[in-house]
Amino acid sequence: MATVASEPKIARPQIRQTNCFIGGQWIPAASGKTFETINPATEEVIAQVAEGDAEDVDKAVHAAREALERGPWATMDARDRGALMNKLADLMTEELDELAALESLDNGKPVRDARAADLPLAIDCLRYYAGWADKLHGQTIPVRGNYFTYTRREPVGVVGQIIPWNFPILMVAWKWGPALAAGCTIVMKPAEQTPLTCLRLARLAQKAGIPDGVINVVPGYGPTAGASIVKHPGVDKVAFTGEHITAQTIMRDASQTLKRLSFELGGKSPNIVFADSDLDAAAAGAHFGLYFNQGQCCCAGSRLFVEEKVHDEFVDRIASMNKTRKLGDPLDPTTEQGPQVDKAQFDKIMKYIGLGQSEGAKCVTGGKRFGERGYYIEPTLFTGVEDEMKIAREEIFGPVLSVLKFKNVDEIVERSNNTFYGLAAAVWTRDVGKAHKLAASLKAGTVWVNCYDVFDAAAPFGGFKMSGQGRELGERGLDAYTEWKTVTVALG
Ligand code: NDP
Repeated sequence: MATVASEPKIARPQIRQTNCFIGGQWIPAASGKTFETINPATEEVIAQVAEGDAEDVDKAVHAAREALERGPWATMDARDRGALMNKLADLMTEELDELAALESLDNGKPVRDARAADLPLAIDCLRYYAGWADKLHGQTIPVRGNYFTYTRREPVGVVGQIIPWNFPILMVAWKWGPALAAGCTIVMKPAEQTPLTCLRLARLAQKAGIPDGVINVVPGYGPTAGASIVKHPGVDKVAFTGEHITAQTIMRDASQTLKRLSFELGGKSPNIVFADSDLDAAAAGAHFGLYFNQGQCCCAGSRLFVEEKVHDEFVDRIASMNKTRKLGDPLDPTTEQGPQVDKAQFDKIMKYIGLGQSEGAKCVTGGKRFGERGYYIEPTLFTGVEDEMKIAREEIFGPVLSVLKFKNVDEIVERSNNTFYGLAAAVWTRDVGKAHKLAASLKAGTVWVNCYDVFDAAAPFGGFKMSGQGRELGERGLDAYTEWKTVTVALG
């Protein structure tokens, strides 16, 4: 593994927006408070950001309500809404390098990942949903009697959107895309660790011509700004991505106003490798499926089940990839792995590594901090992991892969499904019948066969069980942002 580079190879991006964005204005928090956003590669402060709370959220909700009911957005032709979304996607494309560098600075992800994955996927998502803006059709319904009945799909209203830090730009696109296509207006709270790109995108949205008040951003903390969004009676719906425990708090807080809720939560996704698979492809996929984004993926393939007869050979392949993985400055375009997002995540992951060792798993690679500055953790690989160990049951959200052995297809479905999560799963095999049988039996919102982490804006994504409620992306992603209205007309 390489050492942490001392000088970034890409110029440090400029920090332009650090205030709340409300009703088209950049304003400090009403309290005057700010919080620090930290560069996880150096542990240095990047900027002071407005710390919004209940008062700022209230202003943002009023701006969003005004834009929903009285502004140009309220009467805009659906196709014109789509055109504005495409314009935003154009501006993101023009500023792709700058946005990728800013994302890398604030989150710690390698800039090459931000350029190759986060930005293109986010832009594609906005364009995909721009195409839906004028295609949200109702139906005509043949009811009994002399009536004409039809349905309309209307925007659910003012939506609160609370996002995490692992894919800040992409999460903005997944949330804004369907909301804007449906004609909703937005109050968003980015994660405290990564507010900068969300604020930059709000600026681009304004530049694209999206009317003031349609998108509002209130940076701040979850229990204050986030909870204020959830409790506000003027917010019709909350979309949240993050931990299931936070979702439980949100569900309780939202019960007062019976808000519509959609959740995209965590996972402990099984990645199942059969001896009859293409082992080169499976090893590359298993490695990518866990270590991509420093392991900070809700759908990380963190339980790697390997058929006994190829287990040792397969482990060797993953271990050798870990040994040559390049850790370092995220702004260096050759870096493959950056730091974890913050100290809290670093500490949590190191605790799980210690737990894995004390539970009796064998640490084959990694297990230690990398370097002396920044929240880097070596790519860590555990073998000898048993189903009941905590490292096989709980979401670690870091570069820690647990390998479990299995003997045959009969046991693997039950073991894979033995978790309260159900976000994703993968199967590697050349046997097409076995692949489809498992795809049907695995209790997960997404099953990948002979691939991992393949995302497309058109394909729905979300969780079974405690991994979520509702779906994002695709046509199904619009369900969370629309109400169905039934109109019945007496024909005389
Ligand atoms: P959280 O679920 O706490 O945070 C996600 C977002 O929710 C943040 O914007 C956060 O604000 C906000 N939030 C926190 N509390 C509340 C609340 N009471 N009401 C409204 N909003 C709230 O995740 P963490 O960042 O704390 O990460 C903890 C763990 O969650 C990780 O280790 C990982 O296991 C999991 N996780 C899962 C993700 C996924 O994609 N499924 C993404 C991120 C984390 P604030 O910025 O103040 O935290």
